[in-house]
Parts: sequence; C-alpha cells; structure tokens
Amino acid sequence: MASPAEDPKDATPTTQVQNRAVLDALPFADTQDFEDARRGFLGTLPEVEIKNDRGRVVWSLKEYGFLGEEGAPPTVNPSLWRQARLNMSHGLFQVTDRIYQIRGFDISNMTIIEGDRGLIVIDPLISTEVARAGLDLYITHRGRRPVTAVIYTHSHTDHYGGVRGVVDEADVRAGTVEIIAPAGFMEEIVSENVLAGVPMIRRAQFQFGATLPKGPRGQVDAGLGKVTSRGTVTLIPPTRIVTAPIETHRIDGVEIVFQLAPETEAPAEMHMFYPALRALNLAENATHNLHNTYPIRGAQVRDANAWARYLNEALDRFGRDADVVFAQHHWPVWDNHRVLDFLTKQRDVYKYLHDQTVRLMNHGWKAAEIAERLALPKSLAGTWHVRGYYGTLSHNSKSVYQRYLGWYDANPANLNPLPPVERGRKYVEYMGGAEAAIARARRDFERGEYRFVAEAMSHVVFADPSNMEARRLGADALEQLGYAAESATWRNAYLLGAFELRKGQPNTVARAAISPDVVRAMSLEHVFDYLGVRLNGDRAEGRRIVINWVFPDLARPYVLNLENCALTYLADRRSERADATVTLDRATLDRLILRETTLADAAQGGLARIEGDAAKVAELFSLLDDFALMFEVVEPKRPA
Ligand SMILES: [Zn+2]
Repeated sequence: MASPAEDPKDATPTTQVQNRAVLDALPFADTQDFEDARRGFLGTLPEVEIKNDRGRVVWSLKEYGFLGEEGAPPTVNPSLWRQARLNMSHGLFQVTDRIYQIRGFDISNMTIIEGDRGLIVIDPLISTEVARAGLDLYITHRGRRPVTAVIYTHSHTDHYGGVRGVVDEADVRAGTVEIIAPAGFMEEIVSENVLAGVPMIRRAQFQFGATLPKGPRGQVDAGLGKVTSRGTVTLIPPTRIVTAPIETHRIDGVEIVFQLAPETEAPAEMHMFYPALRALNLAENATHNLHNTYPIRGAQVRDANAWARYLNEALDRFGRDADVVFAQHHWPVWDNHRVLDFLTKQRDVYKYLHDQTVRLMNHGWKAAEIAERLALPKSLAGTWHVRGYYGTLSHNSKSVYQRYLGWYDANPANLNPLPPVERGRKYVEYMGGAEAAIARARRDFERGEYRFVAEAMSHVVFADPSNMEARRLGADALEQLGYAAESATWRNAYLLGAFELRKGQPNTVARAAISPDVVRAMSLEHVFDYLGVRLNGDRAEGRRIVINWVFPDLARPYVLNLENCALTYLADRRSERADATVTLDRATLDRLILRETTLADAAQGGLARIEGDAAKVAELFSLLDDFALMFEVVEPKRPA
C-alpha cells in the first residue's frame, strides 16, 4: 500500500549506498565510548519520564526505544546512529571519588560534587522539573544532603535554567548557598537570548528537532544529547563572579581551580580543575563531538582560535595531573594517557578548523568553496569525539570566514541580489516554468543530486508556495539529505524542512522568549534596548516623543528619546523638554515588560506616576511590536 504523500519515505538506493559506506570508513569495532558511557552507573528512573505540576511531560526517553537496535536503519547515518545510542545512557553515574553526574535527564549533564557539608551542583539543566528529578535520584542513592553551592559553567540556558529546582532563593539571599559564575555571565544571558530571542527559538526547532516525530525517519538525537527539556526555566543571579584568568577557591571544602575561557563555546565560560580529585571539568569546550563555532539556530559566531588556545592552556596546566576529564554534556574519559590524547585532539580540531579556513581565505577561496574542500586530517578522521554530530566542519568553516570577512563573498553579483520571492519567480521563469523545472528536478532526484534539487524546488516554492508538486519533491530531497547526514543538527534541519514543506507550519506553542527571571536580570540599558528593537519604524514615522524615567529604588533617571524612527536613551539624564515623566520602581517595570500589567493600570493602581502628557507615553507604547514565536521558514512569509 502506498503511504500518503505527506508521510516520510524510505531511504533511496543512493542514500543507502552512502550510509553503508560509512560503516567501512569508521572504526565501529572501537567500543570504548560505550564502556565509558556506562561506567560508574548507580541507578536511574524507568524511561526517565518527568512531568511538571500540571501533569505535562517535560522530558521523556520513552519515544527513543527504537534506538535499542544496534544496527542503523537505512534512513540514519550509522555514525549518527552510534552517537544517538550513546546519548541514551541515563541516570546517576559516579565519575570519581566525590564526583557524580546526572545524565540523560536533559540535553546537558548536572554534575554533583560531595563537599564537606553538602552538595556542589554544577549546571542544573534547562528546567526546574528535570533538575529536581536529577537531585532526587542522587538522594535516593547517596542520601539527603543540603545543596551548599551552585556553579554555572557558562551562559547557556541548559546550564542554569533548572536552578530553582535545586535551591531556594531565600537560602541564596541568606548566604547559606553560594552561586558562582564566570565573568560576563549575566550580561551574556541577556545579550544572547533577549534581543534576538524569538527567531532563535523558532530556528532552534530546526537545530534540535524537538517538534519532529521521533523515530528512524524522524528525530534520533541532537548530537550533544537527545533533545532539550520543556519545563520551567529559571535563573538566580550569581553571588560570586570568577574574574581572574585563574582563580582558586575552596568551596564547601573542595579546592577548585577556575580557568576562565571567554569567547569560546559561550561568550562567558569557564573550566574547572579539582586538584585533590585529579579531575578536570571542561564545561562545554571538549565534548564527544565537534561543537559549533556557529549553531544553526543562529548566534554570534564564536572564536575557534580562542577555543583551541584555552584547551591548550587547560592541557598544559592541568593535563598531567588529571585522571579523568569530563564535560557538562556526554560521558567522561578516564586514565591520564587517554585524557591527554582526548584533550590534544579536541584542541587540534578547533585549531585546524580555524587555521585552514583562514589559510584558504587568504588564497582567495570563498566561504562555500572552503566548506566544500575542508575535511578532517587523516589522523583525526577516525576519532569519534571530533566528528561533526553537532557542529560540522562545513558550517563551522563558514563561521570562521564570517568572523573575519562577514557574509559578503566580494562577488558584486551577490552584493544586492533579488530577495527570495522575486528571485524564485525569475529562476522559475528562466527554467522554463514550474512544470519544466520540476521535470528536470525529478531526473536529478533519480541521480541522487539532492542538494541542487532541494535548492531548485525552494525557488519554485518561493515563487508559488501553493505548488504541492514542488513542495513534495523539495521535501523528498531534503529528507534524503537528512537521512545521510552525520550531523544530528543537519538531519533535524533537513527533516523539519521536509515536514513543513509537506504539512505546512505546525501550530507549535514554543516557550516564551524571555523568562520572568531573565527579565528581572536585565539591566535598564537592556530593557531600553529591548524596547528599541520592538519599535515599529514605519508607524513611528514623523513622531517625536521624549520621556523621563525615574526609578526611585535605583536612584538613576533615564531619558528616552524617539525621533527619526529611532529610540535612544541616556542614563543619569533628565530632559527639560520631556513630554512626560514616568516614576515607577523596577519591579513594576519588569511587570510591564512581561505584560503582566499596562502602564495605565499601574498608574491607576498607584504603582506608577505619570506627570505631563500621559497620552504621549501611551502613544510610545502603542508603537511597540509584539513578536509571534512561529514564522515561515521554508516558504514565503505570509503577511500578518
Ligand atoms: Zn550546553
């Protein structure tokens, strides 16, 4: 029986041949990683299904049961299949004396160190529900002890969001729980996640594949772990910031040497060495895959050169004294000679990526050409932990190019091309119409030329999104690219692209772009920057509004100025010519940003005072856009 046109299809003979070739090219007989991923296992939860207070499942490994099969199906690259199976290891694990990890309760790991009085929790996952469940699992096996400190290794949500699941903020305020983070931590959370938060969340669906059905023809993994948890995201600001390149502290009786590693996997990140335990924690800079110098969800590009430099410093400073190295994702590597080998290769893969891209750039190659040429050196190609399950050499090398030279390849034909819809229409016209283009693409599809078929059909879809034949053929091509991809993030992107071409954009309710804790953590500068990016430039045309803002609890006045469709501000200033002066405290401002109240209601309730022309304040707020979390990606944007 033929399956409906909208269902995922099987791997074509071309894809099957490609995937079979992977079996011969890579050292599948080397099963050390499987031993390491199991080592120290103490216990787990059945299927690790975790719900929130309202009974909604926020994390589950149930749907991944199909990964019990050892051999990869024809629809999954065998190298990725192997990684997806490794990432299924879940539960509480002992890493070494006093160090434990919760794995498989989220995309990231929560590390727990047994201190003299209680527990040091490192990176409490994305959401409170899974962090709580992880801590409970630890307590079941090791007994109840208080959390005495939390350490955030870096400024990404999967390393702090569950903090309220493991500590009470009152204990932090009372000084009984210390929270430690690297320099720049709070700044970077806001600048990475707030201003461009909405498109990052939508684009992250393509990177992680969270909205895809799971299965051999769907999502199997995210490379770095299974997928992201969907519970309550929180943040408690740090009480101690590590600011020197190397700082040593005794935290709850455990000596920790902190090594700052800024501008690496995150703009604010740090490594840790525990000398007495002979253990090295590299946060997220040395994991069991090539990481991203540019995640395809979109982000400012990262510095591959700095990444290699900080790994080299860690290797030099701590390597000889480490019997185990681990990260806040994946599984540890034990024994000093293996630790040194692991660190050397991790260091070199980022250095190679950086240097070879820049070398080819200097020879005049363009980003797309460099990405096509670059391959792992033979001495690294058979090393599992540097393979591209998360980042790829291809898109990472484009980000190295971008860091130095930007998006433009210097060919003026590409300086100001037509935008997607107009370009699509011209391509279709030049190709002799949609029907002719589809007929040619079908022949190319039969020959396995999926990359170009996907591109050509995208032009037809942008010219006419109602062309179902083009959508289906484009989807078929993306799907085969996904089945052959070694990178989980590429697979997810291709398969979600195919899914949305076939079925349209799902009505997914994505999580809010900003959590209440992050709003509270924003500086006033961040708040006004955030208002600035919400200003609708078209509707602001011709308006001139000046408002003084007074925050009695912060003792800092601000003046906000709208002219030329641009919203600017100055701190510690008041304008004599202001249309109005708004007086309110910071907590009320937070509620305004979170839309829990309006300025008019706050004024009525006595939480804000408006002097002068209140209508001007209302006018300014009326010019601010709201952003919908879902938008079209694989087809033209529909007018709102
Ligand atoms: Zn992470």
